[in-house]
Amino acid sequence: MTLITPQPGIMEIALYQGGKSKIAGRDDVLKLSSNENPLGVPPGAQAAIVAAAGQVHLYPSTDHAALRGAIGAVHGLDPERIICGVGSDEVLQFVTQAYAGPGDEIIHTEHGFSMYPVLTHMTGATPVRVPEAGRRVDVDAILDAVTARTRMVLLTNPGNPTGTLLADEELLRLADGLPERVILVIDAAYAEFAEGYDGGAALATERPNVLMTRTFSKIYGLGGLRVGWGYGPQEMIDVLRRLRQPFNLSELQMAAAEAAVRDADWLRDCVALNRDQRARLTGALRQLGLACDDSETNFVLARFADAAEAEAADRALQAAGILVRGVGGYGFPEGLRITVGDADQTGRVIAALSRWREGG
Ligand SMILES: *Cc1c(COP(=O)(O)O)cnc(C)c1O
Repeated sequence: MTLITPQPGIMEIALYQGGKSKIAGRDDVLKLSSNENPLGVPPGAQAAIVAAAGQVHLYPSTDHAALRGAIGAVHGLDPERIICGVGSDEVLQFVTQAYAGPGDEIIHTEHGFSMYPVLTHMTGATPVRVPEAGRRVDVDAILDAVTARTRMVLLTNPGNPTGTLLADEELLRLADGLPERVILVIDAAYAEFAEGYDGGAALATERPNVLMTRTFSKIYGLGGLRVGWGYGPQEMIDVLRRLRQPFNLSELQMAAAEAAVRDADWLRDCVALNRDQRARLTGALRQLGLACDDSETNFVLARFADAAEAEAADRALQAAGILVRGVGGYGFPEGLRITVGDADQTGRVIAALSRWREGG
């Protein structure tokens, strides 16, 4: 037996299982398992990476001023209150690490992002899982779960893998109902796909205890580059900065993200494509007798009769070269999460599921 033991909580962490990206013997695989952008990388971002490539012998800027300035200008937010991270995952890690430790509790909801219990265990705190109601966040259940030990609520809005959005009034009711000593983190990775929703920016502007996190991985097509950001009260951002390594982002990452966030046409085109294909996919699933909620994201959670039927549909999709995401680990053994693709890709999904339904 070794005397070398890790910190409390570390051994509770289950290793991350990524979405599959290959099917043996096929070179026409359509990957709709990780909510990636069907339009790929914004052209300006790709050009910015190439332009910055000749400078990587130099250390990057440590204050991220240019990127924060661009994000602030586009979103109408104070750049001083923005912090950038290696994906929004890193910003979530800053806030959990800064404010929770052994003996504390961090609340997440039943179908919340799988990283939340992992991030909680990293701090030694205890994750508290609160039920949802009909695949929607239940504000009263969250408020009921708050104890003297609660330090934070981690909320995905819109949800993944549910795709549902907690309405603004409900989000406000949650913020109002939490004690001020409890931080509300609004993980708005899919905010751009929920038209009219600000990702919690207004709440994070006004409240001393609300942090919003955003990402370049979804609508901005930069998942492989790893850039995200957080916005919140100045005092909180100043705390998180102390945990951020000075060179966490390279100039390649910052230049690409800045080009992406300034590309308003890209945003508009991606939102429109997603809106159309999401409606088409949702309609087709329902016509095939498969239940799904209206999604406010770039994926749809299809619900089958049971786990066996979901597995059969998954096999049929894989036989057609299509990878989607089984979400048993999120409490939906009967579900498959399907990323919304472009028109051709969505057509392929609908055709494969139709053939499977017909028993062909
Ligand atoms: C994809 C996703 C993120 C983004 O993670 P990054 O680290 O920014 O790539 C955050 N939260 C949820 C719920 C997600 O689905």
